[in-house]
Amino acid sequence: MDVARRVLGTRRREVAIGAVAVCVIVMAGDPHSSRSRLPMCPVKLVTGLDCPGCGGLRLTHDLLHGDLRAAMHDNAFLLTCTPVLAALALRSFALRPGAAPAPVPPRVAYTLASAAMLWMFVRNLPGWPLKPITRA
Ligand SMILES: [Zn+2]
Repeated sequence: MDVARRVLGTRRREVAIGAVAVCVIVMAGDPHSSRSRLPMCPVKLVTGLDCPGCGGLRLTHDLLHGDLRAAMHDNAFLLTCTPVLAALALRSFALRPGAAPAPVPPRVAYTLASAAMLWMFVRNLPGWPLKPITRA
């Protein structure tokens, strides 16, 4: 039991350190710039379509800079789902010390997956106004 707690405690620490590192990198870089060195979405690169997560780095950058309006433009779905995703992550990693990470309840997983697919369809319709902003 002590070994499991130590491993999970280390894992939580690694996840927290990784999250802070990603935030620092995204905050320092500018994913809005076409010259950014941050990675491009592979779905967008291959298909030209915005996937449900497209704009996520720009959203994170804008939230870290306190620009909620720009964040809504970047990915309204992801912004809306952030509290749910954060709650699921906390539930999985933080609230169960010594236990295996809790799985996402199937009803929640299917609902999120269905909403993501609907969001991908809607955001790729011609004339959809909320497109991730890229500057030259
Ligand atoms: Zn994408």
